[in-house]
Amino acid sequence: MKFATKVIHAGIHPDPTTGAIMTPIYQTSTYVQEAPGRHKGYEYARTSNPTRDALQANLAALENCRYGLCFSSGLAATDAVLKLLSKGDEVLSTSDIYGGTYRLFVKVFERLGLRFRFVDLQNPARLADYLTAKTKLVWIETPSNPMMQIIDLEAVCTLAHQHGAYVAVDNTFATPYLQNPAEWGADLVVHSATKYLGGHSDVVMGAVLTNNEELYERLKFLQNACGAVPGPMDCFLVLRGIKTLHVRMQRHCENAEKIADFLVSHPKVEDVFYPGIPAHPNHAVARKQMRGFGGMLSFTLKGNRMEDALKVLSNTRLFALAESLGGVESLIGHPATMTHASIPKEERESRGLRDTLIRLSVGIEDADDLMSDLEQAIG
Ligand SMILES: *Cc1c(COP(=O)(O)O)cnc(C)c1O
Repeated sequence: MKFATKVIHAGIHPDPTTGAIMTPIYQTSTYVQEAPGRHKGYEYARTSNPTRDALQANLAALENCRYGLCFSSGLAATDAVLKLLSKGDEVLSTSDIYGGTYRLFVKVFERLGLRFRFVDLQNPARLADYLTAKTKLVWIETPSNPMMQIIDLEAVCTLAHQHGAYVAVDNTFATPYLQNPAEWGADLVVHSATKYLGGHSDVVMGAVLTNNEELYERLKFLQNACGAVPGPMDCFLVLRGIKTLHVRMQRHCENAEKIADFLVSHPKVEDVFYPGIPAHPNHAVARKQMRGFGGMLSFTLKGNRMEDALKVLSNTRLFALAESLGGVESLIGHPATMTHASIPKEERESRGLRDTLIRLSVGIEDADDLMSDLEQAIG
């Protein structure tokens, strides 16, 4: 099956009792057994739920993986991945990552005995310098948040595997429509389904996809043992959102490309960070591993004055000032005070994350309207 068919059909079957074409919302906490231990495969809804099963199978198919598990948020999915590790293990992470992921690593798991190192892997050969015998996991976000760096997945996976480390890729920004990390060797693909997969800013959820049966069994154990599972209504909403993922992503990409060009030629804009621009330092890698460049971009203003950036942020009318991304409506954000406020200022600036950096989640509205909005806001 091709992608546009998979989003609609993979893992989804008419309801066996009624024939309902839409996966029903099995809003139940438990299932009646015919006799002790004799049941239809469902015992308790933390362990499994038919609405969740359909979504897990659908997401696995989209990422060309055999196994899928959903969690109550993207961070709950990441939390489960980290719980595969043990005290003393080291995680090597790309340095430009989602602020909440950084907070989970440093404020929670470091205290519990894991060690984290944050490195720039835009040159993947550098990985060899950082891997130690204790490195058990390499954590990659590409495109990264908010600098839109692209990491060469094939090169990183090859090197990490030579050293016996697993690779987990946060594929939230690209979505499986644009990039399948498992094809380049990733052992685990992680999503915040809150973003493009749900696509309508109405649900919080996460997922982990894998082809590795052992990792799947261990994660499934953790999903049930730790209990951060999504409810059936939320699973239904994400299933519904995914049915239009391909058409939404097409428009997100088209609009973002137009806006990137508009910003590049704007006299008040200094830098534009979008992997689709030929001048982007990792453009060639993006072309190799992605089927398009996505709907996220960042830019800075000339003069590097914080107040100019804040003015733009409060002057847009269509772009709503909000955290999050990936919905049909356009959002504008300020990483330094919003998504990345949990990263200390020195740490932020060492990663090129200036106080004037503005991030856009380009929605699927009319591109001309979006550009006029930015034009009047930048002034
Ligand atoms: C939002 C986000 C997360 C966290 O997901 P939640 O669903 O908010 O817990 C992780 N990674 C990236 C890239 C994100 O954008």
